[in-house]
Amino acid sequence: MSILISVAAVSLLTVFLTILIILGETVLANYGVCTIDINHGRKRLAAVGGTTLLSALADHEIFVPSACGGKSTCGLCKIQVADNARPVLPTEAPYLTNAEAETGVRLACQYKIKSDLSVVIPEQFLATRRYHGRIERITDLTYDIKEFRLALPPGESLEFKAGQYIQVETKPYGNVKESVFRAYSIASQPAEQRYVDIIVRLVPNGICTTYLHKYVTVGDEISFTGPYGDFYLRDGADQLIFIAGGSGLAPIKSLIFDILAQQLDKNMIFFFGAVSKRDLYYVELFNDLAEKHENFTYIPALSKPEPDDDWDGELGLITEVVARHIHDGENKHAYLCGSPGMINACIEILSQIGFSSDQIFYDKF
Ligand SMILES: Cc1cc2nc3c(=O)[nH]c(=O)nc-3n(C[C@H](O)[C@H](O)[C@H](O)COP(=O)(O)OP(=O)(O)OC[C@H]3O[C@@H](n4cnc5c(N)ncnc54)[C@H](O)[C@@H]3O)c2cc1C
Repeated sequence: MSILISVAAVSLLTVFLTILIILGETVLANYGVCTIDINHGRKRLAAVGGTTLLSALADHEIFVPSACGGKSTCGLCKIQVADNARPVLPTEAPYLTNAEAETGVRLACQYKIKSDLSVVIPEQFLATRRYHGRIERITDLTYDIKEFRLALPPGESLEFKAGQYIQVETKPYGNVKESVFRAYSIASQPAEQRYVDIIVRLVPNGICTTYLHKYVTVGDEISFTGPYGDFYLRDGADQLIFIAGGSGLAPIKSLIFDILAQQLDKNMIFFFGAVSKRDLYYVELFNDLAEKHENFTYIPALSKPEPDDDWDGELGLITEVVARHIHDGENKHAYLCGSPGMINACIEILSQIGFSSDQIFYDKF
């Protein structure tokens, strides 16, 4: 009994002290207005001390990617505090490698501004903007994948590289009382100035995908920020291998169409892995493309077709199919997009075939 009372007393004391610290921080601490230096003088901003770096930057329309709204559960909003970074908080530790922690990398959502500071962020974040698109079209691509066309206001355009992504912001709906940001790769081409297409797979109980699949309709406004990401075409190889599964087709579609539109001298093979026929989409689009362009080959593959799928195409896991067609890594780059499991398996098989890590580019989601 006395042990129970002691445990309860210690717990109460801990809660009390935590509340006291939070109150002290919010009520008593006054850090004044602080200066944030970005990328060694590239930009200088004034920020109210006590706010987090993530929200201070967003107040100045610099949108660092974040999928959890500052709760420290996604680990996306990494930036580097250039001098005298404060120690890593327990809430940040799971997301930082030792090397990152030592070089001042911190989560912007957890780093409170308490004095002037200097940060280093990818230069592309300085070019990100908030956009207010309107849903122009919603297309059912499979039983759980929809494509959304977000029309931009007249006169506005989003400059991005094929393969990059945007962060869509939801509005509160149903029992979800808060807005969240989620990343979606752009499926349309950069040359298309008027709209942005995204391809979204419904995740059971997922906040954003439920919002997009079940709560929005044509004509609704969708806010998003972007562009982000380093999944784009690199120089240095004439033969390109694209591998995708599920909604991972989105950035690959953008890349392939962009390369063809620019008439780049590349030979391309696109492997799309699906379980059965009901998971395939845009088959006609890519078959047509392959007929029109002799430098483009399309290989859809099913790992477990249904008996009535009547499938006479490639069979097997996408790794097996890739291994049947690709025999060396010479003059080749591979671009992969899909689930972490699929990407990891593909990296392994490509390494066995002879690709080195600097010949493989991917976005996992
Ligand atoms: C660079 C990048 C590009 C991407 N591009 C695309 C794309 O083109 N298309 C695409 O479809 N996706 C893409 N994603 C993934 C996308 O950003 C989202 O992660 C995904 O759509 C799920 O979002 P959500 O809000 O619906 O799910 P979330 O709400 O984030 O939930 C994710 C999972 O957690 C579970 N979960 C949520 N809350 C709880 C809880 N309280 N307890 C237990 N489990 C819980 C959900 O059931 C679900 O399984 C991309 C991700 C990245 C990082």
